[in-house]
Amino acid sequence: MAGKRDYYEILGVSKSASADEIKKAYRKLAMQWHPDKNQGDKAAEEKFKELGEAYDVLGDEEKRAAYDRYGHQAFNGPGGGAGGGGFHDPMDLFREVFGGAFGGGFEDMFGGGGGGRRKSGKQRGSDLRYDLEMTLEEAARGVEKELLIERFVACATCGTTGSKSGSGTKKCHTCGGRGVVTRSAGIFVQQSECPTCHGSGELISDPCDTCHGEGREQKETRIKIRIPAGVDTGTRLRSTGNGDAGLRGGPSGDLYVFLIIKKHDFFERDGNDLLCEVPISFVTAALGGETKVPTLDGQASIKIPTGTQGGTVFRLKEKGMSNLSGGRRGDLHVSLQVEVPTKLNIEQQEKLRAFGESIGEKNKPMEKSFFAKAKRFFDL
Ligand SMILES: [Zn+2]
Ligand SMILES: [Zn+2]
Repeated sequence: MAGKRDYYEILGVSKSASADEIKKAYRKLAMQWHPDKNQGDKAAEEKFKELGEAYDVLGDEEKRAAYDRYGHQAFNGPGGGAGGGGFHDPMDLFREVFGGAFGGGFEDMFGGGGGGRRKSGKQRGSDLRYDLEMTLEEAARGVEKELLIERFVACATCGTTGSKSGSGTKKCHTCGGRGVVTRSAGIFVQQSECPTCHGSGELISDPCDTCHGEGREQKETRIKIRIPAGVDTGTRLRSTGNGDAGLRGGPSGDLYVFLIIKKHDFFERDGNDLLCEVPISFVTAALGGETKVPTLDGQASIKIPTGTQGGTVFRLKEKGMSNLSGGRRGDLHVSLQVEVPTKLNIEQQEKLRAFGESIGEKNKPMEKSFFAKAKRFFDL
């Protein structure tokens, strides 16, 4: 174990780095040196392993404390030597940290805990997360979407056995077939799942060249999902069995689709109701008339009564969003904005001034009552 590099140095962080900084550093470097990205590059593979080992220790509060006190010595106990045993398999660690999703949404994957650990028998594949953006119109009507997802599927070469001949297995050399390893890590002694065979006690004696014995490989796959009408940002849909395939025929994880509804040009959403501001001229507001209103079902029109004030809200029943749980549709609330003209020529200004004088005080009930109430503020 001589000449081992310092774990902090490997991750490029300081000794005082927070758990979050360590995670971030590992995530960045592990992506860079991942064997899938550096096929056939031995140096990259070594770097990736080294990173995994460093993160395995620094990413764990207990192990990090031991490492801070005893350095590499902390993990050099009698049980810890063989083949780097005692550390997580770097590929497994990577998948745990990224939750298995390589297609996007890493930021969110990170907080969400590792995917399916093995309970008994075969290891279940990881659940995956996909963040899907859609328009308000799509959310209102419901839509079918096709997602392109990078995930583990059954190996095209060997099926799910992981073995060239289809049956070649041998006893695991790390754990001697017990499926667990006992590690004396300096001051700790602990028993954990064997990192080489993942607890099965067996290894493939003639691993398939395509999947290296995993019985699954990464492929871009297209998955169709049906999105019901009425969904909102934060709605989570589960597509059962469309996560990662399990190890050597283990059950597949699920795919979780998180929806994000894009901001709309003029509809604002409030639960199942929609809000929309529609401008009308001050002449229409005063004299009354009609105005066009956009709705999700196309154009509608509303009658503007004579003397309508700005800010008046009209409710168009059941012109809002569909109800996800099947009830009544939401309403559309149209709020009128009275537009004051900004570029009047001299003639228009004069007419307006004359008009203003002609209506006098009588025709300003709102103004009158406001200033009557506010009188005490001005008279002081
Ligand atoms: Zn295979
Ligand atoms: Zn084993």
